[in-house]
Amino acid sequence: MVARVGPLRYMRGMHTTTFDVPTPSRDAMIDITPSIAAAIQEAGASSGLVHIYVPHTTAGVTINENADPDVIHDVLAGLDVAVPHRQGFYRHSEGNSAAHIKSSMMGCGATAPIVDGRMALGTWQSVFFCEFDGPRTRRVIVTVMGEAS
Ligand code: ZN
Repeated sequence: MVARVGPLRYMRGMHTTTFDVPTPSRDAMIDITPSIAAAIQEAGASSGLVHIYVPHTTAGVTINENADPDVIHDVLAGLDVAVPHRQGFYRHSEGNSAAHIKSSMMGCGATAPIVDGRMALGTWQSVFFCEFDGPRTRRVIVTVMGEAS
């Protein structure tokens, strides 16, 4: 049974924005934290949630360390070892099965809390767009669900 909370009052606090991300290579992780922060500011939310969605089947989004760039290098290298670009058993005719698998491993969405108008990321965390079949131009959809104080 779904509880009724009134005539969609909570929908007033929803704000959606999209932006494009040009990616430089077949595999890459790009810090998109500033664009998410701008979307939160534009929405005027001081508390709530932000959802980041990647509408692609060979890309993803994840939150991970941005202090040491070697972490991103190692994440991409580790994914390459776990999911090699070529495998004899791949059937998908486009030849990008590894990208599809990595996309599902990272996921196409991420959510973070908004506190005092900012994403409540940990000290070392950033939001990364994950490219696995680039270079190309990708899209990110940001939904801010929140209230102004
Ligand atoms: Zn494909």
